[in-house]
Amino acid sequence: MILPPATIGVLGGGQLGRYFVLAAHKLGYRVLVLDPDKQSVAGQIADEHIIAAYDDVNALNYMATICAAVTTEFENIPADTLDYLAGHIPVRPDAAAVRICQNRSREKSFLQAHDIPHAASLNITTEQDILMSPASIYPGIIKLASSGYDGKGQQIVENKSEALAAFNQFNSQPCVLEKKLDLDYEVSVVLARDDCGNIEFFPVAQNVHKHGILDVSVMPAPAFPDHLRVEAESIARLIAGKMDYIGTMAVEFFVAGGQLLVNEIAPRPHNSGHATIDACYTSQFEQQVRALCGLPLGDSRAHSSAIMINILGDHWYQGSDGQTKTPDWQALLSIPALKLHLYGKEEPRPGRKMGHLTILTEQSGNWDLMAANVRQKLS
Ligand code: ADP
Ligand code: MG
Repeated sequence: MILPPATIGVLGGGQLGRYFVLAAHKLGYRVLVLDPDKQSVAGQIADEHIIAAYDDVNALNYMATICAAVTTEFENIPADTLDYLAGHIPVRPDAAAVRICQNRSREKSFLQAHDIPHAASLNITTEQDILMSPASIYPGIIKLASSGYDGKGQQIVENKSEALAAFNQFNSQPCVLEKKLDLDYEVSVVLARDDCGNIEFFPVAQNVHKHGILDVSVMPAPAFPDHLRVEAESIARLIAGKMDYIGTMAVEFFVAGGQLLVNEIAPRPHNSGHATIDACYTSQFEQQVRALCGLPLGDSRAHSSAIMINILGDHWYQGSDGQTKTPDWQALLSIPALKLHLYGKEEPRPGRKMGHLTILTEQSGNWDLMAANVRQKLS
């Protein structure tokens, strides 16, 4: 066990890293953040912020000297960095797990190899792969194999010629071409797994995306039948077990035609797990700290149902009167049992996650009405 006041490290310094720092501080750890962005919102509140590239050997050597163990909050950390650090200190999750999750074609091969249901997909590395694609894959979605997030690096394509155009637009970088499904709804399973293989599941969340970005997440998922919950947890358990995963992980699922299909795997806490901060005995971030340090996992159960709504930078804008508009904080904070979270980002940009809010409520079946009420106060 790594005990406080040891220093632990996190690669990546966005809002997920910021909550990791807060959870670690609550337990008495010191935290070092490595993120090249000097404005890093995790770096702002960490004990130390190393501003360097993720493959800067001097920075990694320093991190390995100072930290008792390291985790990540961002799947696009070079896996070689995790391997390098693992030569000196425990790294959780390990490079092998992150390597799979950071590349959609490796992820699909992993799902295929373990017979885990997912949307039909093809790896695309040349135009020839598109010319050979079966008609049944259309309408499809072309997704960059690596570095996409929040719906970026994706394009809906109706046929081969649109697929070719999209592939060219992505500069012929490796992609996957996936069948576009008619979704009933989407859910995610967030779990924590320790170094003995014990797993704690958070309640399954139901997720609504807008323009490819998570908008609303309801926990527990109101329309999700229990037999599918059991199946989703068993798939997530299989994935975490096959990766020998240590830490907090999320599995995003599609439900289409009443069937579960894995969409993608995040080797880190997840936006749809933010409600765990206010609604669960142990948050997804505290579990990440506990798993990293070899402490017993906490109780993941929820003490309340919750609705989580993301706050994007779109809600800050210049009005026609020349004034800067911001969300109506007064009205929002008057909603009962509403918890406001802002991440400390200086610059609001469209599509940028500035914060979120969580409403604790036993009436989460009315989530769409509550979300509409919040939206009105946001803009
Ligand atoms: P990101 O890394 O941006 O989260 P995802 O692959 O999860 O990328 O896609 C973002 C969202 O786009 C999904 O949550 C879903 O709403 C929609 N989407 C992605 N793939 C499909 C698909 N094959 N069929 C239908 N909708 C999809
Ligand atoms: Mg996703």
